[in-house]
Amino acid sequence: MQKCAECQAPFEPRRSTQLYCSTKCSGRARERRRRYTRRTTARVATQTLVAVERASGNARLLTAEKQYRHSLQSGTAAVLSKSHETILAKDKVIDEQRSQLQLMSAQGLDLCGQLAETKAETVELKLEVSRILKDRKADLQDLMHIAVRMLQLTNHLSIPLDRPTAEIFRRRSWNTKIPAKSR
Ligand SMILES: [Zn+2]
Repeated sequence: MQKCAECQAPFEPRRSTQLYCSTKCSGRARERRRRYTRRTTARVATQTLVAVERASGNARLLTAEKQYRHSLQSGTAAVLSKSHETILAKDKVIDEQRSQLQLMSAQGLDLCGQLAETKAETVELKLEVSRILKDRKADLQDLMHIAVRMLQLTNHLSIPLDRPTAEIFRRRSWNTKIPAKSR
């Protein structure tokens, strides 16, 4: 006697390899095995699909990350390039301002030189004027000395002043009388 592998009922096997009591039990067992196999296959297939999906998802993620990094880099490169351009433009402005300052400084030096020259000329002119004034004063003193001496002589000789000379005395508001001390 043997126990049926399906329904557990005792039976008399006709072959040594017989596991089930009837074709009905062997059929049910076969059906269950098939269902199990199908389920297993489906599970494996699902797992495989999931694994494939996961792998492809990972790959897509990697690609996306790579693209993102690339776009970041190119963005950074664009920003760097732009800031480089800005720096170049500012450098240009600074260069222009520097050359303008140099020009202005040169002009300032020119002006300083001109100012110094003008000052020197003014001092020279002042010296010239004072020299001329001094000369004029000396001339006037000489002239007055001669006039006094002439008045003394003409008075001594009783010669009246001629008209042009009298006119000079009048114009200069000089006294035609001989000063007492000069007599
Ligand atoms: Zn059975």
